[in-house]
Amino acid sequence: MNDPLVARMRGFGTTIFAEMSALAVRTGSINLGQGFPDTDGPAAMLERAASAVREGHNQYPPGPGVPELRQAVSEHRKEHYGLAYDPDGEILVTVGATEAVAASVLALCEPGDEVIAFEPYYDSYAAAIALAGAVLRPVTLRPDGGRFTFDPAELRAAAGPRTRAILVNSPHNPTGTVLTRAELSEIADLCRERDLVAVTDEVYEHLTFDGVEHVPLATLPGMRERTVTISSAGKTFSVTGWKTGWVCAPPELVRAVQTVKQFLTFTAAAPWQLAVAHGLRHEMEWVAALRDGLQAKRDRLGAGLAAAGFDVYRPAGTYFVQADIRPLGLADGLVLTRDLPSLAGVVAIPTQVFYARPERGAHFVRFAFCKKDEVIDEAVHRLTRLGETEGDTE
Ligand SMILES: *Cc1c(COP(=O)(O)O)cnc(C)c1O
Repeated sequence: MNDPLVARMRGFGTTIFAEMSALAVRTGSINLGQGFPDTDGPAAMLERAASAVREGHNQYPPGPGVPELRQAVSEHRKEHYGLAYDPDGEILVTVGATEAVAASVLALCEPGDEVIAFEPYYDSYAAAIALAGAVLRPVTLRPDGGRFTFDPAELRAAAGPRTRAILVNSPHNPTGTVLTRAELSEIADLCRERDLVAVTDEVYEHLTFDGVEHVPLATLPGMRERTVTISSAGKTFSVTGWKTGWVCAPPELVRAVQTVKQFLTFTAAAPWQLAVAHGLRHEMEWVAALRDGLQAKRDRLGAGLAAAGFDVYRPAGTYFVQADIRPLGLADGLVLTRDLPSLAGVVAIPTQVFYARPERGAHFVRFAFCKKDEVIDEAVHRLTRLGETEGDTE
């Protein structure tokens, strides 16, 4: 039989995460590839999920989401960012940020419309855009002064007559960049001038380091009315398996996204929603401790990678550090990450898989540091051997 998969989804076959995680299991390697924490979320929040199940919150919740969670999200946006969203009509609970991104792109883009996204990008963006029959216009983030950023002229050049939306992820996976107010202003100016909708992926909004502030694009002048803001409990509360996210936007944008979302999943699972409402209201101190712990882990892994010979980019947020492999005499991160399990017993992700133009990220490798200290230490110990055997690796 010929490939039964529709043409627009070919090329989205097996993800690198599946390949690398399988390799980790087969070789008994430490997995610093996929970005999930190896410790649990706040105990009282986990207990709230269990009690919600026991209390019988086990049938379809309302389409837009459980009222308690929409109310908690509204309070959270107001308290942290000064943004007011009406729980009835401006907030929609989704099956994680992933569904929110897909539903937004499917709701907003006609076939042939263009969507700007910064490469490297979270892998679901390209797939969601392809599903919609839309066209991805990548703008490359490049190292500049120790962090990854974009050239405003390149951003402007990417916008054309068919551009409908821009996908903005800050804090950014996989580079760890937290966009500054000046960078966000460049994006906002373009959105206003060209009448674009901004879809912002803010799943790492609370995981920023060294006091760096996360600024939601919707707080910039003229942006609240044209921004679909996406958050998720997964990263904020270390419950990536709960797949509970939410959209905040003006009523007409929420209506559009919900029109698609209702036929993807109708609604998101009820017990997690009640537990996440508890989290947003009562566990932000726990999140602050998580953030401080992650900052220390960033430094721990960063120092270890530098000692092993990598050129390390210090992330201002997220779970991830970018390492340039060229100081080790290597050029291709895909080759290195395929060899790394047998060479050193460590799994990482070649950053090039997050690019529309992989050659632009060929020499970067992404390591996750959302892991226990002893796991990071053992990985660093193993990677130090890499430098010692570097002559044999190619
Ligand atoms: C983890 C992640 C997501 C997925 O969030 P879910 O709530 O699990 O769907 C989306 N965007 C980015 C940038 C992520 O790192």
